[in-house]
Amino acid sequence: MSPALLNGLLVLVPAAVLAVTVLVYAWTRARGRPLVLAGLPGLVCGVLAILVSHRIGDVLNPVSSEGPGAVGEAALALHRDTPVIDLHADPLLFGRDLLERSDAGHVDVPRLLEGGVALQVFSLVTRAPLGYNEEATNPDRPDLVTWIALTHFWPPRTWFDLHQRVLHHAGRLERMAEGSGGRLGLVRDRDDLEALLAARRAGRPVVGGLLAIEGAHVLSGDFRSQLDVLFEHGLRMASFTHFFDNAFAGSVQGLEKGGLTARGRELLAELERRGIVVDLAHASHATIEDVLAAARRPVVFSHTGVAGTCDQLHNLTDRHLRAIAENGGGVGIGLWDTAVCGTRARDTVRAMRHVIDLVGDAHVGLGSDFDGAVRAHFDASALPSLTQAMLDAGLAPDTVRRILGGNVLRVLRAVLP
Ligand SMILES: [Zn+2]
Ligand SMILES: [Zn+2]
Repeated sequence: MSPALLNGLLVLVPAAVLAVTVLVYAWTRARGRPLVLAGLPGLVCGVLAILVSHRIGDVLNPVSSEGPGAVGEAALALHRDTPVIDLHADPLLFGRDLLERSDAGHVDVPRLLEGGVALQVFSLVTRAPLGYNEEATNPDRPDLVTWIALTHFWPPRTWFDLHQRVLHHAGRLERMAEGSGGRLGLVRDRDDLEALLAARRAGRPVVGGLLAIEGAHVLSGDFRSQLDVLFEHGLRMASFTHFFDNAFAGSVQGLEKGGLTARGRELLAELERRGIVVDLAHASHATIEDVLAAARRPVVFSHTGVAGTCDQLHNLTDRHLRAIAENGGGVGIGLWDTAVCGTRARDTVRAMRHVIDLVGDAHVGLGSDFDGAVRAHFDASALPSLTQAMLDAGLAPDTVRRILGGNVLRVLRAVLP
């Protein structure tokens, strides 16, 4: 379902319910029927809102009908022998138990293990204004995540407090790791990272999880102490913006699309000081340039396509790719159709190849955007078919290793505490 259709339904359905309620109310008055009947449309709508909300993650996250391609033995061996790192997936928002294998959406622990993933960044979407879109999102519109919070029965403290939403989901991720029997291990520092890699080398079936936020708008007031709390709960990657401009920076999908504000510059320094990876995803062009001019550590652009193969406003330009390479950072190329203008692994590889031709193979990685309200080429279990597509495109095995995880590993080792 497209965001435009979803946005439309969220306005039309309540309007229709209100109209029916008024009609039923008028009817009860005219015919002397019990007034309580006028409440029925609202009740039915409330139940429907709960049912729809529990299916929305599945509906918003389909896979391409083309399916993954076949994988040969050489590609499979190379894939299994490489620590695969995915810079961005959003399954936390939709509430699935990630320890259970699901047919819906793209990511859970069983599918990550099957897909050979060593480390998954779990990003948290905390606010999506009604009417969000690729060009100019108004931040003052009602929030779709509040609807999910209410209908998924999140604790009341999360209903109108975005900081609390992060803490709620950080707690969920932590409990899932604790209950995973060692299959999901959270990564909070370099020691965790090295222990994870050692465990996988020893053949243990374990996938790492690293907590991220999509948009710094969860921080307000005294943002330093809020950041301390989030850091305590495992936050290790943060993008400045999501769909809309905020007090720290402009978004490429915002109304103004400005750069870093004075507060944003302070936030950049505070993120770097704590060892939280700075993510430029969704940043406006001005924000990208301001951050790269001021950054002292490597940054990532966690999920994107490139304008060189898919000319969209939100995709990275050659100029910004060069600047990220100069910074020593990493770019996660996406596995969804609108990022790479295509529905197959080879379309993603075409974008990766563009980055390599431009700046070499030391800055390109994987940023699937699994469960990010996108149509993915395939789910996490089919990731070896990406490795096959890279070999098919003539990339050398060493280059494939760097793309699958080596480059991002270098950034994480340089930034994490
Ligand atoms: Zn995103
Ligand atoms: Zn996301």
